[in-house]
Amino acid sequence: MNNKKRSCWNCKYQDLKNDTFLGKCTWFPKHNKGKAKEIPPDVVDKGCSYFESK
Ligand code: SF4
Repeated sequence: MNNKKRSCWNCKYQDLKNDTFLGKCTWFPKHNKGKAKEIPPDVVDKGCSYFESK
């Protein structure tokens, strides 16, 4: 059940265990699409179509 607002902060793919300010998106390595990408400032509060509530 997804009852959280879509944003990277509520997404299970956001990885804050690194030295980036906004975290990295782990959707890519979890789907064999390459390395985790830094989350851009214009995305972090809106999320993206891959959002999954954590
Ligand atoms: S970019 Fe998309 S998949 Fe990645 S953490 Fe944000 S909402 Fe989740």
